[in-house]
Amino acid sequence: MSEEFFWWTDDQKAIYKDVRQFVDENFEEAEEYFWNTKFPWPLVKKVAKKGYFGAGVPKEFGGLELGATGSCIVSAQLGRLYAVGHVFTVSMLAGLEQVLRFGTEEQKQKWLPKIASGEELGALCITEPFAGSDAANVFTTATKDGDEWILNGKKRFITGAGVSDRYFIYAKTSDEKDVRKQYGHITAFVVEKGRPGFSLEKINPLIGFDNVPNGYIDFDHVRIPDSNRIGAVGNGWNVMMAGLNFERLIGAGVFSGLFEDVINLLFHFTRRRVQFNKTTNQFPSVQDGIAEIITMAKVSRLYTYHCAKLLDDGKEPMVEASIAKMINTEYARDIGLKAIQILGGDGLTKFLPAERILREAKIGEIVAGTTEVQKMIIYRFSAMLPFYNKPVRLRWNENVNAPIISKKESTFKGLSITEENVLKVIAHDYKINPGLYMTPNDVREDIGGSRSELRKIFELLEEQGLIIIHRDRSGKTALVKATYDGLQEAFPKEYYQWFPDWYENADKF
Ligand SMILES: Cc1cc2nc3c(=O)[nH]c(=O)nc-3n(C[C@H](O)[C@H](O)[C@H](O)COP(=O)(O)OP(=O)(O)OC[C@H]3O[C@@H](n4cnc5c(N)ncnc54)[C@H](O)[C@@H]3O)c2cc1C
Repeated sequence: MSEEFFWWTDDQKAIYKDVRQFVDENFEEAEEYFWNTKFPWPLVKKVAKKGYFGAGVPKEFGGLELGATGSCIVSAQLGRLYAVGHVFTVSMLAGLEQVLRFGTEEQKQKWLPKIASGEELGALCITEPFAGSDAANVFTTATKDGDEWILNGKKRFITGAGVSDRYFIYAKTSDEKDVRKQYGHITAFVVEKGRPGFSLEKINPLIGFDNVPNGYIDFDHVRIPDSNRIGAVGNGWNVMMAGLNFERLIGAGVFSGLFEDVINLLFHFTRRRVQFNKTTNQFPSVQDGIAEIITMAKVSRLYTYHCAKLLDDGKEPMVEASIAKMINTEYARDIGLKAIQILGGDGLTKFLPAERILREAKIGEIVAGTTEVQKMIIYRFSAMLPFYNKPVRLRWNENVNAPIISKKESTFKGLSITEENVLKVIAHDYKINPGLYMTPNDVREDIGGSRSELRKIFELLEEQGLIIIHRDRSGKTALVKATYDGLQEAFPKEYYQWFPDWYENADKF
C-alpha cells in the first residue's frame, strides 16, 4: 500500500515520504484534538509551516508545484489526521484552480501565495438553504455599486466556517431568464473575514467532522471591491466547474490514506483477539473481510492517482473525477462497516477509529456532490463519448441462420428510397430486434438516402398505419418501428418465423 507509483516525479515521491513521516509524528496530537473536540490550530500551523498547503500552487507563487498528484498525495496523508485533512483540503480547494485559471495576474499574485502559505484558511461557499445539488440556484445576490459589489444572502454547510479568513463564494448577478438559461447569472468572488456585514450564523452539530466547524454564513450588505471578483461577470458557473474536477478528486483522495491505517489496525487486532480458542484472524469471514478492505484500498488508490495524472496532463476528467469521488466515499463507508464487524464491540467504541471512518464516509457521500449527482455526471458525460457510442448492429447471418453482431453492410443498401423499401428495412428489423425501435440513422445506414427524404417517407408510412414514430420532446422523429399491418405488408408471415433445428416440424403451426 505504501508503494509509490512509477509515474510519480521525484519531487512527488519525496513529498510522499515527507508527509507520511509528518503524519506519523503528529498522529497522537491530532487524536488529542479529536478527543477534546478542539479545532487543531497548532497542527494546522505546523502543516502550513511545512508548506503543504502549497502542494498544488506553482513555485512562482510560493507553492511546491506538485500538481494534482502532489495535492492528492498530501491530502491522502493528512486525511489520516482527520480534521486536519479536511481543513487542508477545503482550504486548497477554496480558490486554487479557480484563481489559477480565471484570476488576473494581480489576483494570482495576491491570492495564490496566501493559499500556499496556509497562514490563513480558506472556505468554499457554494451551498445555500435553497441551492444544494442544484448549485446554480443561488439566491445570494451581488449588486454592482461603482467600483464595489454589495453582497446579500446566506451560505450554509460551509466547512471551515468561522476559522477561515478567505471565503470563495458564488453569487447571483443577473435575474434575466435568458441569461439564467445559459448559466450566465452567477459570478465568483472572494470575501475576506472582517468585512462589515459579514457574519457567522450557525455551527452545525454533525454526524462526523467532530472537530471541524461547519456552518452558515450571512452577508448583510457586505461591500467588496471589484478586484475581489474572480473571472468575468456572469462567468461564475465556468469558474465553479473549472474547480470541480480537482475538488472531487482531492475530496476523494482525503479518504484513501485512512484505509491503510484501518488495514494495519485489523491485522494487529485480529492477531491478538482470541475466541473459540483461535485468534480471530483464523476465521474465514474475518480473512474475507480484510481481503475485501485491502482490495478496495488498492483500487481506490490506483483510481485516485490515475485521475490525478489525467488532470496533470491537462485533461478534463469529468467522468473519472466523479468516479473517484463516488468510489472513495462508498469504499470508506463499506470499509468502516466491515472494519467494525471484524473488530466486534470494540469497533463500535470511539477508542478505535473504525466508527469515525463510517461517520465521516457518510458525509463524504453527500458533500461536494452526492453519490446520485456523481452517477448523473458519469452517465451524462459518458453518453456523449464517441467511445461508448459506436452502433452495435445485429445482421441476419445466412450461414448460421441467426442475427449476429456484424459490421457488414445491410443487404438493403443501395435499394431505391421508396415507401416499400423503407418499410422492408423497418420490418426486417423486427426479425432481428423484435422489441427495439430503429433510429432514423439506423434506417439511413441500412438503405441510404438523405435525412429529409427518409423523414418524408416515415410520415407517409405513419399516415398509412404501417409504422409507429416515437417523437422526442421537440416533436422530432427519434425512433421508428413497423406496426402489425406494416409487418404483414412488408413480408409474408414465414419471413419472420424462426425455429431451432431440434424443434419438431409436427409441433409447428
Ligand atoms: C459536512 C458537510 C460539509 C460541507 N461542506 C461544504 C462546503 O465547504 N461548501 C459548500 O458549498 N457546500 C458544502 N456542503 C454542502 C454539500 O455540498 C451539499 O450538502 C450537497 O451538495 C448536497 O446538497 P443538499 O444537502 O442540499 O442535498 P439535496 O440537493 O437537497 O439532495 C437531497 C437528496 O436528493 C438527491 N438529489 C438531488 N438532486 C438530484 C438529481 N438531480 N438526481 C438524483 N438525485 C438528486 C440527492 O442525491 C440527495 O439524496 C457540505 C455538506 C456537508 C454535509
